Amino acid sequence: MPIQLLDPQVISRIAAGEVIERPASVVKELVENSLDAGATQISVEIAGGGLELIRISDNGCGIAASDLEMAFQRHATSKITRFEDMFSLHSLGFRGEALPSIAAVAEVEVTSCQEGNPSGGRLHMRDGKTFKKGALGRSSGTTISAVRLFQSVPARLKFLKSRPTEAAHIAAVISQYALDYPEVKFSLVMDGKASLTTPGNGKLSDAIIQVYGLEVARNMLDIGEQEWNTDAAIKVGGMVSGPVLSRSTSNYISLFVNRRWINSRRLSWAIEEAYHGLLMTGKHPIAIINIEVAPADIDVNIHPTKSEVKFKDESAVYGAVQRAVRQTLVSMTPVSSIAEVAVAPYEATKQPPLFSPHHAGGAGTTSYSKPESSQSEPQRLATPKTTLPALRLLGQIRNSYIVAEGPDGLYLIDQHAAHERILFEKLGAEKILGKLEVQALLSPLSFEVSPAHAGVLAEHLDDLAEMGFLLEAFGANTYLARTVPALLAEKDWKAMLSELLESVGREQSQFMERLMALTACHSAVRFGQTLGEDEMRELLRQLEQVELPNSCPHGRPTLICLTHEQLGKEFKRV
Ligand code: ADP
Ligand code: MG
Repeated sequence: MPIQLLDPQVISRIAAGEVIERPASVVKELVENSLDAGATQISVEIAGGGLELIRISDNGCGIAASDLEMAFQRHATSKITRFEDMFSLHSLGFRGEALPSIAAVAEVEVTSCQEGNPSGGRLHMRDGKTFKKGALGRSSGTTISAVRLFQSVPARLKFLKSRPTEAAHIAAVISQYALDYPEVKFSLVMDGKASLTTPGNGKLSDAIIQVYGLEVARNMLDIGEQEWNTDAAIKVGGMVSGPVLSRSTSNYISLFVNRRWINSRRLSWAIEEAYHGLLMTGKHPIAIINIEVAPADIDVNIHPTKSEVKFKDESAVYGAVQRAVRQTLVSMTPVSSIAEVAVAPYEATKQPPLFSPHHAGGAGTTSYSKPESSQSEPQRLATPKTTLPALRLLGQIRNSYIVAEGPDGLYLIDQHAAHERILFEKLGAEKILGKLEVQALLSPLSFEVSPAHAGVLAEHLDDLAEMGFLLEAFGANTYLARTVPALLAEKDWKAMLSELLESVGREQSQFMERLMALTACHSAVRFGQTLGEDEMRELLRQLEQVELPNSCPHGRPTLICLTHEQLGKEFKRV
């Protein structure tokens, strides 16, 4: 075949393929245009998964009637004039490609009017060309509808999923922008039914209520009000789920950079990592993270749909996000209350050992003042709590739970889970300082692994050494242990290593965390182990010191609190 230039229509359809992959891409581009136009109300209506109809109306600045056709020219934009403008960009669009791309694969009608202009214009595009145009009176703003999407590109139609799936993608796009722009009132109507409406009052938590529901909104923690967040070159805001809340996929992590919705596996991972030791394996947080950096510090022109950005200093952003999330969790993670963990307070209080006379210190020596927060809404989550209050030991029940008194009520502590948490943090701190205590074995002990596990072990010898397990290969499936972590010297560390190798999946990055959690688990006091008073008191003191006292490294609660209010209610005193 001779070399020849492609027909302009073919060129524009090929180019459109980059930007418009599915109906949700049309919605995304049009919503972004409405946001760039400064709209405070954006209404979206779709039918048949977006294939029959997509209509978006906004009350933004509008397009001059004389500019309407120009807006559909490839590379026509009002947002930048010079290449350098991209590095001081405050708009979502800049390439001038969305409208022509949409018109290349759908039939498009636009009506628009600029504020203060008595008459607006209308334009009807077919096959990427002007079909009809005219004048029209309407309120200021723009309405764009696209019908017969992809009818002219049957190959593309074949790649689409079912209409409900495409509709779900559209709903996801609107949900993201609703979370990204809480000051904008969004409404989404799908096949005639209202599917999402946000109040547009600027409150992220109200947008969350509409997108994820009240229960989720209630358990979200605000990053924005934290003081570490002020005057940094990288600002991080938004909301993240408290540890009581999780999802089984990471799809509930939303990332926005300078109000642009982006995907970043690395930043998602930064958030997941901030939850280490707080969520059970396989669970993921819900997060809405707003990152603000100087426009010159990001390159937004690296992805056809602008859904990825490149940071000048990605590690700094990673660190800032992780720190902000972690600090929020650490300072705001509340103690589980009895009601939340569904233990009847009555049952808890009737256990006889609770009132056995082994309290230490005598009741008179400690006086507690009632914290203000307990006056109102005692069980409200998100009560800032950096560490535990001082706890006074009362006793142990079933050789498993420690009972203690705190300023706000009665505490029941799962002795194993609490000790696991203490040891987990101790190991973490010692590891960072390189001060991990190691026990050298007088004569090396051999440790056999299955052929399947031998590979995993071989891959992680360095991690294991870092934690105190100095292992040397000794034949194909046998290792010699020269040192073990001091904590495990007296324990069955071989069983622990087998459990570790058994549990390690594909997620390499979790190996260290699992190793630490299992080391903590196998060294901790057991459930059902009788503890002396001094041991229990020591455990309480240590628990008061840890960073995250309220859950074990697997995410289970370490303690529950029965507040004075709850006691009063149970005994009908209030
Ligand atoms: P870009 O957003 O990259 O500039 P588009 O093809 O998406 O390119 O839009 C082309 C131009 O049309 C925009 O620069 C803007 O001036 C105008 N425009 C598009 N949609 C709207 C809207 N909803 N309100 C006001 N102007 C709009
Ligand atoms: Mg655009």
